[in-house]
Order: sequence, then structure tokens, then C-alpha cells
Amino acid sequence: MAKQKIGFIGLGIMGKPMAINLHKAGYPLVVFDVVEEPVQELVGLGAERAASPGEVTAASDIVLTMLPNSPEVQAVVCGDDGILSQAKQGQIVVDMSSIAPLVSKELAGLLAEKGAEMMDAPVSGGQEKAEKGTLAFMVGGKAEIFEVCQPILDVMGGSVTLVGDIGAGQTTKLVNQAIVGVNIAIIAEALSMGKAAGVDPQNIVNAISGGLAGSQCLEDKAPRMISGEFAPGFRMRLHVKDLGNVLETSRKLHVAMPLASQVMEMMQSLMAAGHEEADHGGLALFYEQVNGFAVKK
Ligand code: NAD
Repeated sequence: MAKQKIGFIGLGIMGKPMAINLHKAGYPLVVFDVVEEPVQELVGLGAERAASPGEVTAASDIVLTMLPNSPEVQAVVCGDDGILSQAKQGQIVVDMSSIAPLVSKELAGLLAEKGAEMMDAPVSGGQEKAEKGTLAFMVGGKAEIFEVCQPILDVMGGSVTLVGDIGAGQTTKLVNQAIVGVNIAIIAEALSMGKAAGVDPQNIVNAISGGLAGSQCLEDKAPRMISGEFAPGFRMRLHVKDLGNVLETSRKLHVAMPLASQVMEMMQSLMAAGHEEADHGGLALFYEQVNGFAVKK
């Protein structure tokens, strides 16, 4: 059976390698981004160029989007010459960006009026996993649409999980980001206390990694705190964006999230201090400011 023609909108840090992996797997691509350079790179590999999200939609069977946040996805779907203007009966749109779940539901409703289907499929894992095709996809949507899209997501992901209806993928991603944010903060907070009490933070990490406090966060972020090097990784400003969506969602649902709120305030102070491009492990810098000493050796 011929492979479906894929429209790909948003060729940034994540989208470009994901699109390249689809190309390598033999999917015909039609691409669009407001930045010319990654478009040229994909065209050089054999992808078709489109002049707008609407043109992408008219030329493809399945449209994938990988954009920064809710306003960009709304603009690409609903704007002039957007996806909605060309969406046809039976067309599938898969948004892989990390955005607010309520926005995913709203856009799915608009597309449904045209007979088109939408799934939300945000990912966990950064640029390296995007390049290797080993991202973790959290997918929301109808089971029969998931079945159609799974082989495509499998090209870009090491794990692809249907977690519920439309919006459930985004909700799962927000849960992930809230847990990771609080986890990083308490690692920095507790290691600061350990260091002040006179124990080498590296020895502490060695001793506790195999126990209940062990985690992928401890494994990835504690070495950054101990070396004082916060090159990204996952940028602080993206985590602030995700926590913004966490808190917007929890407020609408009247669910208390005191821990996530605290972490958001800490990250905001680091954004104000110019650390927006630092790895989110740079939360340790907040404790350095308030305590007057660093976790760093
Ligand atoms: P990015 O900023 O590098 O890429 C976004 C791309 O969208 C850019 O190329 C930009 O030009 C394009 N774009 C913006 N507005 C557009 C529009 N109106 N029309 C067409 N193109 C437009 O971001 P990224 O790091 O690739 O992240 C994309 C999404 O994936 C975000 O939601 C992010 O939170 C999520 N994510 C990122 C990472 C990571 O490590 N970078 C990890 C997991 C999830």
C-alpha cells in the first residue's frame, strides 16, 4: 500500500529531525515553516514546499504540527489560509506540540465541523531523542484514528501510548511536566541542605540513587547542579510555558497545585535574571540566590 502523504508544519529543534525521520522512512512530505532555513533543508532532501498551512492541508492526507504553544497552533489551524480553510472530510490532523488541553479540544471541535479528525500527541524527550526517533508520545483521540496514525508516530517514537480522548495526551504531558518541575526543585533544595551540613553532594547522590529517592531527574539533573553547568537540555522558558499551561488548566478545573505554583514562581525569578535559555536543572540557581551558596563543588 502506498504511504500516506504527510504535511509537516513547524520545523524547529524538534520538528525538523522528526520530519527527516519520516522522509528516511519513505513518507512523501509537504512542509511549511515561517522560517526559511529548515524548509530549504527538507526541500533539499526531496520534500515539497507549501506557501501556507492551508496549502499543506490541501496537498496531504495527514497533517502533523510541531509548534511552540497554543497561540501558534491556533493561528496555524484557524488563521488566514490555515488548516481549517482546506480541511476535508476524513482528513487527520495530529498536533504534536505541547499546548493547553482545552485548546486541543476546541480545535478538534472546529475541525469536526469539516468532517476532519484531530489527535493531540505531545512528546517527552528532547532534540537527541527526536533525532534518534525514540521520543515518547502521549496520544489523545479516537482509537480508530490512532490505529491509522500509529505507524507514522512509531517512526518518530520509541513509545507511542493512547491515553484517552482528545486532550488526554496534553493532560498527560502537563502531569509529566509538573512532576518533573517539582522533582528538580526538591533535588536542588535538599542537596543544598546536605551541602550546608557538610556532606559532599556527589557522595549524597551516590548513596541515594539506588533507593526510593532515585529517579531519572536525579540522574540527569544532579550532575548539572554539582558541576554548575546548565547548558540545555530542556530550556527553562519551555518549562515555564508548560507550567503556565498546567496552572491555567488547574485553575479552570479548581484543583489546588501549591507545589507546581511555587516552582513556577522560582522559574519566573530565574527568567527575570536572564536564565531563560538555561537547562531547567538551573532551578539550583534559585537556591544559590536565596541561600548565598551553590550546590556546586
Ligand atoms: P522551536 O521553537 O524550535 O520550533 C517551533 C517551530 O515552529 C519553529 O521552526 C518556528 O519557526 C515554527 N513556527 C512558529 N510559529 C509558526 C507558524 N505560525 N507557522 C509555521 N511555523 C511556525 O520549538 P521546539 O523545541 O521544536 O518545540 C516544539 C514543541 O515541542 C513545543 O511545544 C515544546 O514545548 C515541545 N517539546 C520540546 C522539547 C525540546 O526539548 N525542545 C521536548 C519535548 C517537547
